[in-house]
Amino acid sequence: MSEVLVYVDHVDGAVTKPTTELLTLARRLGEPSAVFVGSAVDAAKETLASFGAEKIYVLDDASLSEYLVAPKAEALSALVAEKSPAAVLLPATTEGKEIGGRLAIRTDSGLITDAVDVEASGDGVATTQSAFAGNFTVSATVTKGTPIVAVKPNSVAPEQAAGAGAVESVSVEISAGAKSAKITDSKPREKTGRPELTEAAIVVSGGRGTSGDFSQVEAFADSLGAAVGASRAAVDSGWMPHAFQVGQTGKTVSPQLYVANGISGAIQHRAGMQTSKTIVAVNKDDEAPIFELVDFGVVGDLKAVLPQATDEVTKRK
Ligand code: FAD
Repeated sequence: MSEVLVYVDHVDGAVTKPTTELLTLARRLGEPSAVFVGSAVDAAKETLASFGAEKIYVLDDASLSEYLVAPKAEALSALVAEKSPAAVLLPATTEGKEIGGRLAIRTDSGLITDAVDVEASGDGVATTQSAFAGNFTVSATVTKGTPIVAVKPNSVAPEQAAGAGAVESVSVEISAGAKSAKITDSKPREKTGRPELTEAAIVVSGGRGTSGDFSQVEAFADSLGAAVGASRAAVDSGWMPHAFQVGQTGKTVSPQLYVANGISGAIQHRAGMQTSKTIVAVNKDDEAPIFELVDFGVVGDLKAVLPQATDEVTKRK
């Protein structure tokens, strides 16, 4: 069976959910091999093996963490040249897409970003891609070199499957050119205890209809173990930081469930959430445009609806 390389997204060895999704998809294309950059592979190997990684290639060199993404792309391209995989899958995060782009140039291969589905096909890898802020669904396939595919988080439900998880150390030689931009400082994100917005399976968002009080939105999110999002109106009003903004000029999310509270459903907000699997809205105006998009809608005041929904979810736990 042909090998499929999966770039591992992790935080100090804690494997992120998008990586487990990539391993799930990789199994449709061939035999998954995880590519782990860093020194904390011991913390990661059990998870990687439990999602089907047969091999875990470890690239452990100080320059891979000291510099921006160029050394990672260089190391990965050396691995692609050596292994000739059937495909390379990366998460469609800022880092994953940049590595993918550089890797495509280095290996003279085609790149597909923001894929939401991946299947084996006669002539390689068939993908479904969400393009132009989610306004088009495109079927695409790579016609040159090694298919390099960046997959949006939450595109598939991760499924476990036992893999051997054999760790193999790979020596890396990074060129001076790849070391031309260095990280000089980094600050960890403030911990909220909630999942990352773009990775969360459930997102509960609030808009201008909250009148600046996000406490009911946050309580409902916490009852569901969800991330909190916001419309631009809420962000521009200073109620939530920009990191929470969903939409054209904010983040694109594609969770299993998106709950919009007091959000009218402007096209720029939809651009960031319309590929969510199930959409629910709470809005007191039954003619709000968001209701054209939803699977379930509640016409009512969010200040009355959300506490009841929170109680109900908490009761059923
Ligand atoms: P509103 O449109 O004011 O809607 C508030 C809604 O809350 C209304 O439907 C109202 O009926 C309802 N409501 C009020 N009180 C209650 C209550 N008590 N209970 C229940 N419902 C209630 N917007 C984004 O969100 N993300 C973006 O990334 C983004 N990028 C943009 C980029 C550009 C270039 C431009 C021009 C605009 C962008 N916008 C973006 C702004 C967008 O056009 C809208 O202005 C914005 O999404 C509106 O936010 P809102 O739905 O919270 O507010």
